Amino acid sequence: MIFDGDRDRIAPYLRELADLVGLRDWRILVSDDPPEHPEHAASVDVRYGLKVAVISFHPQWAESDPEQFRNTCCHELLHAHVNHVRWPLNNVAELVGKAIYDPLYQSVTDYIEYAVDAIATEWAKTLPLPVMAPPFPGKKTRKEVKTS
Ligand SMILES: [Zn+2]
Repeated sequence: MIFDGDRDRIAPYLRELADLVGLRDWRILVSDDPPEHPEHAASVDVRYGLKVAVISFHPQWAESDPEQFRNTCCHELLHAHVNHVRWPLNNVAELVGKAIYDPLYQSVTDYIEYAVDAIATEWAKTLPLPVMAPPFPGKKTRKEVKTS
């Protein structure tokens, strides 16, 4: 279990990762709410005009594999670098109309997602893992568990 399930330890971990991915001057907050889409591991709200990102985690975050949780954190943090790309589109929304704006906005969103996912997948491997709780006495560690 990551951080022994202590949710208050997510913020310091995110701060450490944020500093390592070029977000030293950003405020990184952990939301009390789950992601907007319940099937997502996490989501981020990058605040307009501010260097503030609010990250929401799935209620079962502590059950994540440590490498997956690190990747999820890296992924959400990298959105802070690129989500601003969509804001200029909002400035022309009324000019171009819904028929152009909606597919354009969705296309930009999709490509942001592809880029963030690809970069996070590789970059996260270089970042520190979250601390795992020690296994229960008698419980097999990950290395002891056989895989087929
Ligand atoms: Zn994403």
